[in-house]
Amino acid sequence: MSQPIRVRMAPSPTGDLHVGSARTALFNYLMARRVGGAFVLRIEDTDAQRSDPAREAGIFDGLRWLGLDWDEGPDVGGPYGPYRQSERNDVHREAVQELVAGGHAYYDYTTAEERAAEREQQRAEGRPQRYSGIGRDFTAAEIAERQAAGVIPAVRFRHEPQPVRYEDVVLGSIQVGPDDIDDFVIARGDGSALYNMAVVVDDHHMQISHVVRGKDHVSNTFRQVLLYEALGWTPPVFAHLPLVVNRRRQKFSKRDGAQWVGEYRTQGYLPEALVNFLVFLGWAPGDEREIFSLDELVQEFRLERVNRADAVFDPQRLDHFNGVWIRRLDLEDLAERAWPYAAAGGLDLGSDQRPYFTAALELEYERLSHLNRTAELMDFFFDDELDPDMGQVRFRRHSAAETASALERVATLVDETELFDDPTLEAAMRALAADLNWRAGDLFMPVRIAVTGRRATPPLFATMEVLGRQRCRDRLRRALAGLAKLAAA
Ligand code: GLU
Repeated sequence: MSQPIRVRMAPSPTGDLHVGSARTALFNYLMARRVGGAFVLRIEDTDAQRSDPAREAGIFDGLRWLGLDWDEGPDVGGPYGPYRQSERNDVHREAVQELVAGGHAYYDYTTAEERAAEREQQRAEGRPQRYSGIGRDFTAAEIAERQAAGVIPAVRFRHEPQPVRYEDVVLGSIQVGPDDIDDFVIARGDGSALYNMAVVVDDHHMQISHVVRGKDHVSNTFRQVLLYEALGWTPPVFAHLPLVVNRRRQKFSKRDGAQWVGEYRTQGYLPEALVNFLVFLGWAPGDEREIFSLDELVQEFRLERVNRADAVFDPQRLDHFNGVWIRRLDLEDLAERAWPYAAAGGLDLGSDQRPYFTAALELEYERLSHLNRTAELMDFFFDDELDPDMGQVRFRRHSAAETASALERVATLVDETELFDDPTLEAAMRALAADLNWRAGDLFMPVRIAVTGRRATPPLFATMEVLGRQRCRDRLRRALAGLAKLAAA
């Protein structure tokens, strides 16, 4: 029987989920879910010294919002815990000691000055600057002397110059030359492990079968392969996801778009759209399809289909996905999701207004590109003081005074139609235009401005139906007052 699939993501606690980490999480999640494997969340907080739940919370929130739930992690536990790196010092230390005992690592008592002098000499000779292992073979007496002088050692891996090679699922068989790696530091003098060491120990103890992460970790991978070998452990399968670049092929940065998943959420992107977008940063289905739900991706995703080429982050494509996904939601679901954005955007929403909100949203469905634009698209539905600026009417064929008497008749009609719905209003308003001998459009525009305060709105009569008789009446009254001023001026 083959080994069960166990994958992980190992973010540092930053307070929010980085989009790059979100992509890593997504790819790992898909791998695990496809074959019923385990998706592990490990918080790599060794630099932060201690775990800080507040800084993890943003990562948990971002993952949950995207729908990427994990099977083992600091909050849910699991058989291979603890899942915070800072709580795993003992296991790390033990492995460090094992390497020292086996002669694979040593306490290096060189001083910063000695190492700087070595680099200076290498520079002068035009050689690459690498730690040459000057601290490898100090005698016990030399070490004692340095200890007495207060030198704080670092634990270094003893790397004999030789090429290092490994097989990457995405990148193929890759290697570095004999001198590309020096005696790298694996732990501080107090025995606490640094990243490469800690990650190897944790991945091994957590029985991780596949390490899937960003390509920026390839240079670490060679060091990690050396550590696995020295510890006598079988390394996991490695797969490195392509670098994310902007449209000018430079590394994706703050200037190219938001870095944090929380920002995308604030900007009104749907998690479905972001997932759909992120998966294309390195993967493609091999045909023309481009809209995938998370569940569909679980079926479709294959690690073997991950590309080597840099992945271009194209914000317009994300916007496109967002529009597609907004229009895929059913109306109630969209209303549920848009509501908090509308409230945050300043709409005065009482909980009893939900049906009204939903009816109005139905009219704006097509025009809504981002949920955070809900308030700006819909504010006229909720402004009970709306005082339309009738100066927006162009008065080309009809003066302000003529427009005012036409709107008087509209106001009467609004009071008197038996039904206040889209077809009734349209029929009545067309009949009125004919009776006035006006082009329909010449009548509809001032009515539109009167009842919404805008020239561009959803279809007029459907909008009036949703606004309802009372609001239309009030607004027409204020519009007539405004027209009277314009006519007098
Ligand atoms: N803490 C590392 C990072 O956030 C994890 C890298 C890895 O997956 O090994 O980049």
